[in-house]
Amino acid sequence: MSDIKHSKIIILGSGPAGYTAAIYASRANLYPLLITGKNPGGQLMNTNEIENWPGDINKISGSELMNRMNKHAIKFKTKIISDTINLVNFKKKPFLLSGEKYQYTADSVIIATGANPRYLGLKSEKIFKGKGVSTCAVCDGFFYKDKEIAVVGGGNTAIEETLYLSNFAKKIYLIHRRTNFRAEKILIDRLQKQIKNKKVVLCLNSIVKNILGDLSGVTSLVIEQKIFEETREIIINISGVFIAIGYIPNTNIFINKLEMNNGYIKVMNGMHGSFTQTSVPGIFAAGDVIDHVYRQAITSSSSGCMAALDSERYLSSL
Ligand code: FAD
Ligand code: NAP
Repeated sequence: MSDIKHSKIIILGSGPAGYTAAIYASRANLYPLLITGKNPGGQLMNTNEIENWPGDINKISGSELMNRMNKHAIKFKTKIISDTINLVNFKKKPFLLSGEKYQYTADSVIIATGANPRYLGLKSEKIFKGKGVSTCAVCDGFFYKDKEIAVVGGGNTAIEETLYLSNFAKKIYLIHRRTNFRAEKILIDRLQKQIKNKKVVLCLNSIVKNILGDLSGVTSLVIEQKIFEETREIIINISGVFIAIGYIPNTNIFINKLEMNNGYIKVMNGMHGSFTQTSVPGIFAAGDVIDHVYRQAITSSSSGCMAALDSERYLSSL
């Protein structure tokens, strides 16, 4: 028990929500401890083009922005630890958190554990993960120079990944299960240009049924495509497939500990204070773990700020 680390505030997560909460909490002299999790910097580390972070007129990479947030938090004396929490006890006071490396106690906790990529759920997807199946174009795009590849999805991530990969790949098949895209208009316009250039081929109303390959990795995709009332099966020869079909909130460790809504942590919401308060007083949540609608860096940072202010108010009321 002697090596349990106690803090007034513990922040779980090092994405925009976690770092913003850390900056606000440390400027309130609460000496927060931020636990990074397995993905330091969070989801933005997977993109090299951020164009909508206010004040940064020229696009910046995700790692650049997250590096700046990290330095900003350190400047105000946030303590940062590389660890991942796998068990929590929110019934005890102080709250108890068990990590892979250490145990921690805290008077207040801010959960900013974000989200992880969603997979199609195919057996073959698991077999070829890292051998042609990827969820990160920025990480793996370079390996597909002059190759034919596929991207699955119809949201902002899928279109951004396709545009980014068009810098490397010879041809990209963009496979989407509907005909309408969720992605922003500006991205769709850029996509149209790559379709005209014959860099991108659209496969709409299409579902990936299987990923085939051999010892060298992925070699083709089996697609079920619906044309009017008819369904046909087609095979596309490719050497890599990027799955970009959304994200699942990282909330497994909070099941039965906090109230949830479809896997997202329930917070009080509303504009009358305590916006980020969860079902347990003293535990706050911010960012993509509470938000299935907006899921942006700026909205995550905003709720991270609110969580720090809510937590500060809670601590001073004790
Ligand atoms: P995340 O960024 O998901 O960070 C979660 C953090 O929690 C990670 O550090 C992780 O290690 C940590 N963690 C998880 N589990 C634990 C645990 N058990 N213990 C401790 N720590 C844990 N948004 C924009 O506004 N503009 C963009 O241009 C943009 N581009 C994007 C491009 C891509 C490819 C993707 C995937 C998303 C993009 N987004 C963009 C969305 C944006 O990245 C997210 O909305 C934002 O990162 C969410 O921030 P967050 O802090 O809530 O969580
Ligand atoms: P998303 O908006 O949820 O879109 C997921 C896409 O994948 C949808 O087109 C969906 O199809 C499809 N899909 C979901 N499950 C599927 C399945 N099992 N099989 C086949 N297709 C499936 O996710 P996202 O694109 O990852 O974006 C996540 C959040 O991050 C969004 O809020 C987005 O705005 C944000 N983001 C922002 C930027 C930016 O600002 N530039 C960049 C990237 C991400 P349907 O359309 O049919 O549902």
